[in-house]
Amino acid sequence: MKIIMLGAPGAGKGTQAKMIAKEYGIPHVSTGDIFRANIKEGTELGMEAKGYMDKGLLVPDELTVKILLDRVAKDDCKNGYVLDGFPRTIPQAEVLEDALNKLNDKIDFAIDVNVPDENIIKRMSGRRACLKCGATYHIEHVPPKKEGICDVCGEPLVLRDDDKPETVKNRLDVYHKQTQPLIDFYSERNILKTVDGTVDMMDVFNAIKAILG
Ligand code: ADP
Ligand code: AMP
Repeated sequence: MKIIMLGAPGAGKGTQAKMIAKEYGIPHVSTGDIFRANIKEGTELGMEAKGYMDKGLLVPDELTVKILLDRVAKDDCKNGYVLDGFPRTIPQAEVLEDALNKLNDKIDFAIDVNVPDENIIKRMSGRRACLKCGATYHIEHVPPKKEGICDVCGEPLVLRDDDKPETVKNRLDVYHKQTQPLIDFYSERNILKTVDGTVDMMDVFNAIKAILG
């Protein structure tokens, strides 16, 4: 099964993608996590991506598409995957569609986790992330067992540089201009499913499971 998660930054794509990955035994592929891992390791790619990410801008398509196509070509993706944060532009969606077409393959579901902008800023300022394993928490809704420490790997948790309110506002603007058109793109292909992302995360997940079967 091949799934795309759509939704504004902070809508809960990563939270749901991780649960889907576990339930259906497919890898969770997050371009944001790949960029952050590269930033942490100080790679050239990481340094280039950071300049855009810190401003709340998208990393250019050429760079992002290559990383994503390399990742989904790996062996663990042959039975499917859940994409979180990709595609974020129409050209990215077209490249993915062409690459899958060549393999006689396609995306099965594009799930839009719908959360209005008003809820987003609050959510993002409470998000805490582990840059080592990619786990995410929320200081109110999903606190770690020990404050400031990742339950999974024991690393200190951080407020992502791009989760500061002024950057979140830019990311929302970018989302509306560049990413929201994907809703129509996947709707035209009859694979768009929308879930209410404002409810409790387990209720969001149950709605997604009802769609995926
Ligand atoms: P995205 O991947 O779309 O940017 P995340 O999955 O990281 O979003 O979620 C953003 C923040 O909101 C995180 O701190 C997460 O723990 C929290 N969160 C996710 N889903 C819900 C929900 N249904 N209700 C409340 N908080 C949520
Ligand atoms: P995320 O973790 O998905 O919220 O992504 C964090 C940041 O990484 C985004 O704000 C972008 O700067 C960059 N990024 C992640 N995925 C993409 C993508 N598909 N296209 C362009 N930039 C991306």
